[in-house]
Amino acid sequence: MAISKILLYYRFTPVADPKAVMLWQRDLCESLGLRGRILVSEHGINGTVGGDIDACKRYIRKTRDYPGFHDMEFKWSEGGAEDFPKLSVKVRDEIVAFGAPGELKVDEDGVVGGGVHLSPEEVNELVDARGDDVVFFDGRNAMEAQIGRFRDAVVPDVATTHDFIGEIESGKYDWMKDRPVVTYCTGGVRCEVLSTLMKNRGFGEVYQLDGGIVRYGEKFGNKGLWEGSLYVFDKRMHVEFGEDYTELGHCIHCDAATNNFINCVNEDTCRKQALVCETCAAGVATAHCGRPDCAEVAAELARA
Ligand SMILES: [Zn+2]
Ligand SMILES: [Zn+2]
Repeated sequence: MAISKILLYYRFTPVADPKAVMLWQRDLCESLGLRGRILVSEHGINGTVGGDIDACKRYIRKTRDYPGFHDMEFKWSEGGAEDFPKLSVKVRDEIVAFGAPGELKVDEDGVVGGGVHLSPEEVNELVDARGDDVVFFDGRNAMEAQIGRFRDAVVPDVATTHDFIGEIESGKYDWMKDRPVVTYCTGGVRCEVLSTLMKNRGFGEVYQLDGGIVRYGEKFGNKGLWEGSLYVFDKRMHVEFGEDYTELGHCIHCDAATNNFINCVNEDTCRKQALVCETCAAGVATAHCGRPDCAEVAAELARA
């Protein structure tokens, strides 16, 4: 059986003609049978694709032919084309949607004025040296943090990345402005932008976890400062770094420990994902996101 893989990557670099890069990337992926999502903007590229391992290797070689992407790093993980519904390659104002395309400045070295990059080892060293003074700031959607986060992390109240600017301007986090703040996200891309936005708003000592949770987990498994499962945006829904992980999440219906996200059964009008344990998810009446109207639809479906 052929081995397949998933690639995760991004690069901030000036892209003179995003549309041309988009068309080239789409052709390349189609010809290699890769599926996934790629966004291109004048600030760079952000993608995750899956497919045959040899096709992935070819994709990396070809993509690195573009001068700006020459030293782009690719993270490998388990999975394949079947983890994505289709191939989607698009031009956007931003490769991560913070709603601040005009604020971001990039040059050949990446984002200008972002937080200091720390390797997983350097994050641990910072915590060893500065102790409880260090604040971990979750750069993901609050839902993702329900099943995994850094120890004692601050989890902002955001449903989408668009909500971050309002959050960090709200005053709620001003106590962190003179503390060392380590931002982290899945693979690092969101923190490239978030750390810049925070610095621009008066946070004085901002770091970003280089390579994100993915690299930290590969390095330290469940023995470091990371706890729980990592939410991922494909059919796998979550991944763990070894068997000895803790289930941090709780089922919204019965409160059992779980890391199981489901799509709400009211799929006509609700796009929500919710933490529902496998037992509750198996019963139609409890396979909903918790909203009253969804609960009603679920009850009707269960009676039918
Ligand atoms: Zn349950
Ligand atoms: Zn729902």
